[in-house]
Amino acid sequence: MNISGYSIGYYALCHRKAWLKQQGIDMEQESEVVALGRLLHEQAYERTPKDLMLEAVYAGISLVGKLDGANLKDGVLYEVKKSKAAEESHIWQTKFYLWLLKLVGCPNYTGLIQYPLLKKTQPVVLHPEDEVRLGEMVHAIAALFRSPTPPDRNPNRKLCAKCSFEECCYG
Ligand code: SF4
Repeated sequence: MNISGYSIGYYALCHRKAWLKQQGIDMEQESEVVALGRLLHEQAYERTPKDLMLEAVYAGISLVGKLDGANLKDGVLYEVKKSKAAEESHIWQTKFYLWLLKLVGCPNYTGLIQYPLLKKTQPVVLHPEDEVRLGEMVHAIAALFRSPTPPDRNPNRKLCAKCSFEECCYG
């Protein structure tokens, strides 16, 4: 079992979404919103290394990350997102990548989430309390992924209206 940046980001948003994704259910293939996000990702940071893979092990659990981009000289990693609707998820995903970098011996990176359509950026820093929280999340996600049944739907119906899994949960 691997826990990825997407696992962390989805878990921060909705535990059920993280579980569905882990089962291989991928409604996002069909989502226009996700297709737009992919296009933005491809166009961003043409001159920086992209899709850098990271792997680490924490408490016997395999962690993997795919960074959208990084400026290795300046110690900045990038994430590209379409909208701020799931900003908390984006921040935790980016903190997870900063943590992965620290676990593999690169502790001095900072993160920058870019929203090209909004012309905005969001700096992200990994604090000691974030590392504690990420460790807790990794253990909770590992337990969640071992569960044969999904958790309940997220009570925040507004969130579901924007989720690519809505049909799966409510259809
Ligand atoms: S539709 Fe709602 S309950 Fe279902 S995965 Fe998305 S956010 Fe979670």
